[in-house]
Amino acid sequence: MVRAKTTSWIEPHPQGLYVRPADLWIDPSQPVERAVVTHGHADHARSGHASVFATPETLAIMALRYGVDAGASHNAAFAYRDGFERGGVRFTFHPAGHVLGSAQIAMDHAGERIVVTGDYKRRPDPTCAPFEVVPCDIFVTEATFGLPVFRHPPTADEVAKLIAAVRAEPERCILVGAYALGKAQRVIAELRAAGWDAPIFIHGALERMCALYVEHGVELGELRLVGETEKDAMRGQIVLAPPSALNDRWSRRLPDPVTAMASGWMRVRQRARQRMVELPLVISDHADWDELTATIAEVNPKESWITHGSEEGLLRWCELNQRKARALHLVGRDLEEEA
Ligand SMILES: [Zn+2]
Ligand SMILES: [Zn+2]
Repeated sequence: MVRAKTTSWIEPHPQGLYVRPADLWIDPSQPVERAVVTHGHADHARSGHASVFATPETLAIMALRYGVDAGASHNAAFAYRDGFERGGVRFTFHPAGHVLGSAQIAMDHAGERIVVTGDYKRRPDPTCAPFEVVPCDIFVTEATFGLPVFRHPPTADEVAKLIAAVRAEPERCILVGAYALGKAQRVIAELRAAGWDAPIFIHGALERMCALYVEHGVELGELRLVGETEKDAMRGQIVLAPPSALNDRWSRRLPDPVTAMASGWMRVRQRARQRMVELPLVISDHADWDELTATIAEVNPKESWITHGSEEGLLRWCELNQRKARALHLVGRDLEEEA
């Protein structure tokens, strides 16, 4: 393995990345004085920081989830390609293509640029701005699906599978498990793009996040709450719920549901079986193996720092391709939550 030396001004700690000259953390897993937050998923956006620096969408999501006051003077919102300077470090936010408001953080200091991706993907997503390639010296990349076995099929094929399944059994409904932030809204938007214009039925736990997306200009079409709908009205229809609701009592109010789940992990049969998923849909908000390796090649950094997933697989690829790399072992990253 090519050993990379740690640059002096950014320090990987188990609880996050610490930017020393700015005295600030990126996605810390514990409450800190100053946090730059890449996106709203719970394993990146923790509650309890004194000051949060993030995109307006991420602040709005944190406000919804934790009651963080997005407008408070101790927090600061930055649009894409905007940013701030602190302690001689210039911070800039760039789209990561992961969920609404998700950002890569570019930092310029002492003639060196470091980019922290947070979570990202490269394929089109109607609910968020596309990933931007930011050339840099050190590229801190996620690796949720950092093994060659993870190759996500085209999203349109998975959505077509879902629509075909619901049409095949008009007496039943399809219940799709999808994480409340990002995946649920993306599945809805992808269905709309595929021409599904019937109302889509949602679990109450998805209501406020869907409304937040709509407020930020993402069109989701007509959504109806399962709790306010007669069972028969959902025959031949698509219902979305958080994964935790798939196999619980709540689903008894649905007409003979076929259980589906939208996740990159659905590529693994064992995972689908564990959740008793009959219709696995491989729809992910994370880069797959090909996207990860293509992105490292395209960004072409002097060093890659790999975190958040299958570090070893991507590390090995870097080694085989004569690219300097190291694995960061950050704690508190919940890969299950939002893949
Ligand atoms: Zn995420
Ligand atoms: Zn994550």
